[in-house]
Amino acid sequence: MDRVYNFSPGPSQLPLPVLEKAQKDLLTYGNTGMSVMEMSHRSKMYTDIYDQAVADLKDLMAIPEDYEVVFLQGGATQQFSAIPLNLMVNGKADYIDSGNFAHLAAEEGKRYGEVHVVASSREDNYTYVPDVKGLALTEGADYLHITQNNTIYGTRFVELPESAAPLVCDASSMILSEVMDVSKYGVIYAGAQKNIGPSGLCVLIVRKDLAGHAMDICPKLLNWQVQIDKGSMYNTPNTWGIYVAGLTFQWLKEQGGVAAMEKINIEKAALLYDFLDNSKLFKPTAQAKYRSRMNVTFVTGDAEKDAAFVKAAAAQGLVNLKGHRTVGGMRASIYNAMSVEGVRKLVAFMKDFEAQNA
Ligand SMILES: *Cc1c(COP(=O)(O)O)cnc(C)c1O
Repeated sequence: MDRVYNFSPGPSQLPLPVLEKAQKDLLTYGNTGMSVMEMSHRSKMYTDIYDQAVADLKDLMAIPEDYEVVFLQGGATQQFSAIPLNLMVNGKADYIDSGNFAHLAAEEGKRYGEVHVVASSREDNYTYVPDVKGLALTEGADYLHITQNNTIYGTRFVELPESAAPLVCDASSMILSEVMDVSKYGVIYAGAQKNIGPSGLCVLIVRKDLAGHAMDICPKLLNWQVQIDKGSMYNTPNTWGIYVAGLTFQWLKEQGGVAAMEKINIEKAALLYDFLDNSKLFKPTAQAKYRSRMNVTFVTGDAEKDAAFVKAAAAQGLVNLKGHRTVGGMRASIYNAMSVEGVRKLVAFMKDFEAQNA
């Protein structure tokens, strides 16, 4: 069977050359005589893979010297707990509630200290990102948490809030899709299964001075300083996940790096939004100013037509376009691995469907 164009929000399509490389090396990696899955995480052959992945990520994101990179397990959700456990020295933090995952992060934070939701678009079903100007931030807060791209609602922060406290960013659905000035953040974390590699892996980028202050009750595996000191290997890490992430980093470098991807991603998003803005059938659901470049949400306004569209698209090899149940309609997730060609095919199909159904 031919490969489909997979618009899944996560786990998501991976670049074909990454899968082909992993396939080629599956039984024996280089001249090792074994699969990466079978290697000791402490062997030189594996630590070389690990070191290269870290170096390539640092290079791709121009991560400054005073930051550490670790590869953790438990996805982005595990970090919803790890963040307060590592950072709540004064016992309070600010959160911007801009979507479902932002909300979950704040709710988890409440288990460990005082959480101040300083802005929220929850009442409006998260169709926009709250204005970051003039926020009433909490005096002495340990951090300000944002979710920079809202995967379910298809919105993104178009500017970063100014905050005296370190900015902590869930970048799960936008990391490596656009240039980020890492020095503006205290912590960036991302579940891998959207823009990086297989699930079960979470990338954490943390400014060195912010690690080493974990609460006594912080589980050892969630303690960032422990993970930094052990190079992500206090226990057995997701060795295969890190290897595939490394292949993606190499692929990104071959594409010209993050700035080159950003250009392509802007082009891909524009193809869809330009069509949606002029469509007689489909309507985008996110406010124009805050539209995500990674998750494009839209509806026809008729649940039956939505379902018919998703079904007919799948029959054409354009799959996983159903929207999240809280938004309804459709969502096209167009992460780095989705080609311009894939988006063009989707738009052409939408035009056909519109001609028959508007
Ligand atoms: C997918 C996603 C998560 C959840 O990630 P897990 O790895 O499943 O824990 C959290 N935040 C954002 C923004 C996401 O897109």
